[in-house]
Amino acid sequence: MQSDIDLGSVLEACNLSESQDTVTYVAGSVIFREGDRGDCAYIIESGEVRIVRDGEPEPYELARLGPGDLLGEMAPVDDQRRSASAVAAAETRLTPIPRQSIEALVDEADPMLRLLVRLLMHRLREQAGGGKVGEGTVDGDQPSDVRAALHSVREQALERVRARREISDALLRRELVLHFQPIVDIDRWEPRGFEALVRWAHPERGLVSPGGFIESAEKSGLINPIGQWCVRSACELLQALAASATFVSVNVSPEQLRTLDAVERLVGIVHDSGVDPSRVKIEITEHLLVDNPDVAVRGLKRVKDAGMTVAIDDFGTGYSSLSYLHRFPLDTLKLDRSFVDGLSESEQRFAVVEAIVRLGERLSMDVVAEGIERVEDLRTLESLGVSMVQGYLLGRPMPAERLRGWTVKLDRASALGRAAPRGLHVA
Ligand code: C2E
Ligand code: CA
Ligand code: CA
Repeated sequence: MQSDIDLGSVLEACNLSESQDTVTYVAGSVIFREGDRGDCAYIIESGEVRIVRDGEPEPYELARLGPGDLLGEMAPVDDQRRSASAVAAAETRLTPIPRQSIEALVDEADPMLRLLVRLLMHRLREQAGGGKVGEGTVDGDQPSDVRAALHSVREQALERVRARREISDALLRRELVLHFQPIVDIDRWEPRGFEALVRWAHPERGLVSPGGFIESAEKSGLINPIGQWCVRSACELLQALAASATFVSVNVSPEQLRTLDAVERLVGIVHDSGVDPSRVKIEITEHLLVDNPDVAVRGLKRVKDAGMTVAIDDFGTGYSSLSYLHRFPLDTLKLDRSFVDGLSESEQRFAVVEAIVRLGERLSMDVVAEGIERVEDLRTLESLGVSMVQGYLLGRPMPAERLRGWTVKLDRASALGRAAPRGLHVA
């Protein structure tokens, strides 16, 4: 039932072209020559590369590089000509990284890292005698502090390039899957909604949780195609579930609301799916509201105008600033697991949860409590008037195929002391 990834968006986000693949060089062939323009860098996938410089009476070798090494990155960063030649020492497979991707990486980098890269380039240039910049393999000529800093910058850049490639490959191979966790209405003892949670079905590592790749996806811009695919798949799920009272919650990263274009794409996906937009809830975190309030207001207003609802996730764990609450069009507060866990045993925790629940009531917002694992905590939440809950006690995240006809396995009479009225059923 899950929809296809938008290939164009993935390639666009990665700054890749469909033809970008690995290139194989036979032993002895020249990868680039000293004096060439540097249009790309390379990652060595397998084989060995010799870096040589012209010299009298004959060329001399500067370095040998192997799998995992980055090659030829300096000239494209600095817009200089190659200061050495690279020759395949054995059959060698390389992944080219075009100049635009490198420029984008430097531009996106943490300001400190960006400064470090520029500074290193400057020092290297001076050292190489005004203009003759090494190809990253001439570290032997440099003082050890420059060498160490260069090594660290190179490692970080390489790590990012690798992560970006891994995730884009995962998207193109359709290895991402969505699981859905029930959000249960404890008055009726039935699911009222489902939260969509992404997983990576990795061929070797098994099911990878979002903690292992969402941050890289956010940094590389790939979160947009991933997020669009999540929303499209969530809408397809809603179409397939007959019960019109159910909603789907989708986690949305700040990046997905940053530009009007990205917001319009989300709105367009929901519109095109034909589902009632009020059945789609987007979950955002406090970071978005605090880091960039004006952008957040603009994005959220558009989402609300399109008929969707908005939840604030992990409420109270971020900056704990309440000042933003009245500024934003929010419908739901999601009470973080850290407050819920052990609620029944801690007076402090009880006081915090009670205050948040009352705050939600006063602001006419729904409260959903997450991460419920224990019956005692569920009872305490019920006594505080929380009626929407989510947690392993009631149901774990599961593939879409298992949702049809899903019912809460826990017995309500033994959990809360009362049987459930007959109500909604997820057909
Ligand atoms: P979240 O939005 O706070 O999601 C709730 C997390 O708590 C999920 O972890 C869920 O499996 C877990 N959980 C639910 N009930 C319980 C419980 O009773 N006990 C415990 N210990 N954990 C419980 P998951 O799936 O690993 O997701 C982690 C985070 O990754 C999410 O936190 C969300 O911030 C992010 N994420 C997941 N899917 C997406 C996505 O499609 N897009 C974006 N941008 N972020 C996502
Ligand atoms: Ca969430
Ligand atoms: Ca949460």
